Amino acid sequence: MNKKIRIAVQKSGRLQEQSVKLLKECGLAFSNGPNRLKAETFNFPAEILFLRDDDIPQYVEDKVADIGIVGENVFIEKQKQVDLVQRLDFSKCRLAIAVSKDKQYDGPSSLEGKKIATSYPNIVNKFLKEKNINAEIHEISGSVEIAPGIGLADAICDIVSTGSTLLSNGLKEVETVMRSEAVLIANNSLDNEIQELLEKLIFRIKAVNTAKN
Ligand code: ATP
Ligand code: ZN
Repeated sequence: MNKKIRIAVQKSGRLQEQSVKLLKECGLAFSNGPNRLKAETFNFPAEILFLRDDDIPQYVEDKVADIGIVGENVFIEKQKQVDLVQRLDFSKCRLAIAVSKDKQYDGPSSLEGKKIATSYPNIVNKFLKEKNINAEIHEISGSVEIAPGIGLADAICDIVSTGSTLLSNGLKEVETVMRSEAVLIANNSLDNEIQELLEKLIFRIKAVNTAKN
């Protein structure tokens, strides 16, 4: 009885503001101070957990949180046993491969034997496998776009929205690996009460997003 659904959202970063905004538009009232780890909602049986986005799929798999909001790219990369239950229509971006703007590029075969720097090794691996390309993947966690300039890699695979970061690092986009948007993920064995709360929330999300379009 009186169970609360635990919702994980990014603590700070590009998903944070719109995740909080969406939940508030769904009628969940809570205060989110900058250093809070948790927030109680006043008018819906929920608890909001503020976490690093990269950790959210694991927390949802482990049921530390029942559901969470992450980029689809992170959901796919982490390969956790969680369900994608609703696309959220914000934080749209793509994962793209880029090379130095003065390098010739004639399709994926140009990547054969090359070094690719990325924070998304699983996604890049799958892409290379599908294209039958052998390349070396260098996993780095940030500032991927500077890797070619400092001689760490021949190419990168990173998140792109407008392309201006690539341009300012002397890179050009040559392949789209995947498109992404924020998604709601859920643990795959929720109790009935929590499942009902999730369905209520999804119903409200759909209503909010339909009203916007
Ligand atoms: P950290 O883990 O250090 O907070 P991060 O790079 O994982 O950094 P963000 O940069 O906040 O986190 O990005 C979170 C998610 O927002 C990404 O996984 C992606 O889905 C989305 N995203 C990132 N950059 C953009 C962008 N330029 N435009 C739209 N969505 C983006
Ligand atoms: Zn992150």
